[in-house]
Amino acid sequence: MKIAVLPGDGIGTEIVAEAVKVLNALDLKFEMETALVGGAAYDAHGHPLPEATLNLAKASDAILFGAVGDWKYDTLDRPLRPEQAILGLRKNLGLFANFRPAICYKELVNASSLKPELIAGLDILIIRELTGDIYFGQPRGRRVSPDGAFAGAEEAFDTMRYTRPEIERIARVAFEAARKRSKRVTSVDKANVLETFQFWKDIVTEVHKDYPDVALDHMYVDNAAMQLVKEPKRFDVVVTGNMFGDILSDEASMLTGSIGMLPSASLNASNQGLYEPSHGSAPDIAGKGVANPLATILSAAMMLRFSLNQEAAAVRIEDAVKKVLALGLRTGDIYSEGTTQVGTAQMGDAVVKALSAQH
Ligand code: NAD
Repeated sequence: MKIAVLPGDGIGTEIVAEAVKVLNALDLKFEMETALVGGAAYDAHGHPLPEATLNLAKASDAILFGAVGDWKYDTLDRPLRPEQAILGLRKNLGLFANFRPAICYKELVNASSLKPELIAGLDILIIRELTGDIYFGQPRGRRVSPDGAFAGAEEAFDTMRYTRPEIERIARVAFEAARKRSKRVTSVDKANVLETFQFWKDIVTEVHKDYPDVALDHMYVDNAAMQLVKEPKRFDVVVTGNMFGDILSDEASMLTGSIGMLPSASLNASNQGLYEPSHGSAPDIAGKGVANPLATILSAAMMLRFSLNQEAAAVRIEDAVKKVLALGLRTGDIYSEGTTQVGTAQMGDAVVKALSAQH
């Protein structure tokens, strides 16, 4: 079981260290190799995804990823910005299916900004297509001003694009996932306005014919954004495109209490995967030892489940996280009155302790 460990920038290094601590506390043998990615890689090698990092990722069964980015790179040319490393890994490894489970742990119902009765027991799975849509469309560009500066430009454009095979395969992933859950899929689109998403809707409907045991409904993205906060438990599996999925999954994270709780898995056709928290590098709290490591620790559990075929170990980690929450330990982002506030490393240590108490 070879794992590429790519901590990245900001809180990435802090939270990945805790996930590695938790993995090392399992009775399993991993080969873990760490490499630079994002801004850290740009600083050292002049590129956010150096060839050595990409080769390590390709040669591994799974990638444990922290986060990349910092405001100080905002003036770099786009291909050199830290965030390009994630896009490069997705494209090079064919990671087309992004799983973002949004589960509200009962201990955290009060940490959410929504009323407890709306979110208690919430367990939805957002499946976001990752390698198509407007983030990868061509052409993309801007009409620059005579001196080449962006501020003087008159126009900018990106092209939204999906191919039939891209939609078919993500639809199949969603229907298969729904078969293991409550057999309901909501496909989110903007078919009323965008051709790309009428195409999406038609193809999802076609693929659905192979899954008569799964119920399918379609919803426009603006309505889905509203329903997610109005009545989130109406959803089970939500499948959508790259951009809508990006936005809706961040929205869904707040249903769980904090973006610091939301893990994710990005898989290719052979179940090789990149596992990362749904949040970014949080430069505002980086280096302070206060970031919530649970999304990364729960991402490591998804890694054990999906890419390393270690379901029992995944469940052990998830149970340990529940135990720690039940004990009342909270990082600042999920703190509420009557609980005990801890830092990043203390939270990781508590999960390790809960794991060892399982024996
Ligand atoms: P962010 O997710 O980094 O932070 C948003 C807010 O959530 C901040 O207030 C932050 O302190 C808080 N937060 C995030 N993770 C937390 C955690 N684990 N514990 C406690 N609080 C947490 O989003 P942003 O501020 O918009 O972006 C910061 C940088 O991250 C940017 O450079 C952006 O491009 C990058 N980014 C990277 C990824 C990724 O690596 N996959 C994803 C999103 C954003």
